[in-house]
Amino acid sequence: MHINTTKTYKKKRFWAGILLAQFLLFYTFSKLKFAVLFFENLFEFQKKIHQLLFVWIPFSFGDLLYILLGILLIYLIIKLFKKKTRNNALFKILIVLNMTYFIYQIFWGMLYFQTPIIAKLPKTEVTLEVRKALALEYLEKSKASRKLVKEDKNGVFIIKDLKAIELEILERQKTLPTFINQKESTTTNSFKPSLFGKTMSFTGILGYYNPFTAEAQFNAELPASYLLFTLSHESSHQLGFAKEQEANFIGYLIGIHSKNAELRYSTEYFTLKSLLNSIVNEDEKFVKTALENYSEGMKCDRLNEKKFIAEHQGYLNDFFGFTNNLFLKSNQQEGAITYSYFIDLLVRYKSMFST
Ligand SMILES: [Zn+2]
Repeated sequence: MHINTTKTYKKKRFWAGILLAQFLLFYTFSKLKFAVLFFENLFEFQKKIHQLLFVWIPFSFGDLLYILLGILLIYLIIKLFKKKTRNNALFKILIVLNMTYFIYQIFWGMLYFQTPIIAKLPKTEVTLEVRKALALEYLEKSKASRKLVKEDKNGVFIIKDLKAIELEILERQKTLPTFINQKESTTTNSFKPSLFGKTMSFTGILGYYNPFTAEAQFNAELPASYLLFTLSHESSHQLGFAKEQEANFIGYLIGIHSKNAELRYSTEYFTLKSLLNSIVNEDEKFVKTALENYSEGMKCDRLNEKKFIAEHQGYLNDFFGFTNNLFLKSNQQEGAITYSYFIDLLVRYKSMFST
């Protein structure tokens, strides 16, 4: 009996040691160019296998995995509280942590250390004037595209055919400029509505990529104006862009020249909102005037988004940088840079086309 417990203890120490070694190993990898490149290449290979494995399952298999993992962890944590089962439970928790962490890092974590997109774009100053000019440009574009989309009886933008737009997003991935993206696009449609549906609306999470199954989950209850850009954003993760704001920028490139007015509108509208958010602290009046100049349709959409947020007042509303409460300035710091990395990328990219 006594020998047995010592052995388990040793095993625990061993697995805790492995976990620590993993932290150090992946930290070192993240600093080495060739290691990151290796994981980038691995991702290309991995995404094909993953999508073949999971795409045919009609629901989000990744969500099911998360639920099972959650149940397993809760079960083991309960066992932790009983003296008799404590050692064994701790040992198993360590193994689960080791495995999860390892798989996460090799499939996804290292992608955060790829060459950032900003390094591929020309340097330019992100002045208030430039952002204002872009805001006006996207206001006009949004207005024009908004005229071409369908509305419900309340005058709110609705989607005609979601499947067609999913295919359009995949198709558009192929047209991304090669100096920004060298990743292989996929024709495999692995967008799945989240199994957490209603709960998700309350967390403020619009969508998420599952690195264990390469599925892109979205909250099917979102207003259409959010939903389509969310799909573009998640598809950018599937393509292999890990950072949130880079996924926004790739999502922007995917949607902005689409022939599909619904996708284009959702993208232009997201871009407009991001720009206005970046301006509001410096020139509130400009933003107010811009909002007044929304077309009737856009005003309905904005109201609908506000209604959705109010009904699902979550504590993580700004989780994915989709800040929509234009006048919610409470967490903005005085004097800090007010524009996001997405705006920085956008301004640099657009500067390439203006003379
Ligand atoms: Zn994301």
